[in-house]
Amino acid sequence: MNSPVSASLFQEALQYFPGGVNSPVRAFRSVGGTPLFIEKGNGARVTDADGRSYIDFCCSWGPLILGHAHPDVVQAVSDAVASGSSFGAPTRKENSLAKLILDHHPYLERIRFVSSGTEAVMSAIRLARGASGKSMILKFEGCYHGHVDSLLVSAGSGLVTFGESFSAGIPDSYVKETIVCELDNIEAIESAFAAYGHRLAAAIIEPLPANNGLLMQSRDFLLRLRELCTKHGVMLIFDEVISGFRLGFSGAAGFYNVKPDIITFGKIIGGGLPVGAYGGSAGLMNHISPAGKVYQAGTLSGNPVAMSAGMAQLSHLVKPGFYENLKAKTDGFLNTIRSSFSVNPGFRLFSAGSVFWLAFTQEEHISKASQIDPDSMQKFRVFYHDILENGVYMGPSGYEVGFVSAAHSEDDLQQAASVMIQALKKAL
Ligand code: PLP
Repeated sequence: MNSPVSASLFQEALQYFPGGVNSPVRAFRSVGGTPLFIEKGNGARVTDADGRSYIDFCCSWGPLILGHAHPDVVQAVSDAVASGSSFGAPTRKENSLAKLILDHHPYLERIRFVSSGTEAVMSAIRLARGASGKSMILKFEGCYHGHVDSLLVSAGSGLVTFGESFSAGIPDSYVKETIVCELDNIEAIESAFAAYGHRLAAAIIEPLPANNGLLMQSRDFLLRLRELCTKHGVMLIFDEVISGFRLGFSGAAGFYNVKPDIITFGKIIGGGLPVGAYGGSAGLMNHISPAGKVYQAGTLSGNPVAMSAGMAQLSHLVKPGFYENLKAKTDGFLNTIRSSFSVNPGFRLFSAGSVFWLAFTQEEHISKASQIDPDSMQKFRVFYHDILENGVYMGPSGYEVGFVSAAHSEDDLQQAASVMIQALKKAL
């Protein structure tokens, strides 16, 4: 696609930033070509620097559940910033957002606001280690938890393995603290706990793994993980940076009705501004400083502008029917695409609530990273460039999920479905 303005902005950016970007996936390396520079967003649409408009299913990688520049969020942010952007002292805005969340979430008694999903996860891991007095972490292949040192590891071959770091700059001593299991494999977690349960501080999982395709887990698997954690005195951390406030107000924990010890949040909680959080029972959270001995702090934590954006967005999510409508809309959109093809067309659209994932596969159910064929990404590339040409924007990788927002109208979804159907026909 010819995007001269984006192309020239990217050339300029290459002189400022490593790889021309401030977060790797934005560089379009997975799909090839030049990243689009986005000029503005409104509702379900974004406009690029060349003046083209797209129906957007990236939604800033998930935070924008009300769409771009929702009037209530814009108003709340401008009101807040006009009263001062940061004080480094408590404000009532932190209380209001915390109250809204704690009042509507069955598994949280205390929360701590931070500034990103990574920071939330890093702090949750420290809390688990501080509270348990143990140091090892169990994670799952195919789950992403931000760029936390000890979690940037993937599995070797075998049921339960010590991680192998896929980033330079991670000391071996950190990597040795992490073991990795396959998702949705009860035998694997039973072996892991049998061997390492006495050394594990935490097991961390995306209960709705959505960073490497959409890998739906069974409730039985999550329940078994819960049981094993309880039996061995291991903290169960649900990383709900994507699923939190997305699958429902109480996220995947509420959806599966499985109670973790700690939940981490990001994305939606900040209404499009940089907010993360972690929370759990009062007893556990009171290990955090200054109540307890686990140190964690932040100059911009609970920032009033960000709290206001989060409050404006989350206030919509507690309205009756919000999630039901969003799910119905998403199901209708995906069914329109599915119904244009015969049975076993060579792709699947997996979804949970308003999250969806397009996979070029014949498999009916994918719950493990190993079920994804890397060669299928070639088809995604063809599909991706075709939808861009025709005015639909998604995250630039076949491993990424798409998000439907409340701002997507039936017309937007109808139009996007037609574009995607044509692109699928070319890619298959
Ligand atoms: N955890 C999960 C499940 C995520 O999806 C992400 C980011 O996509 C993170 C943690 C890290 O969040 P952030 O990018 O805000 O640091």
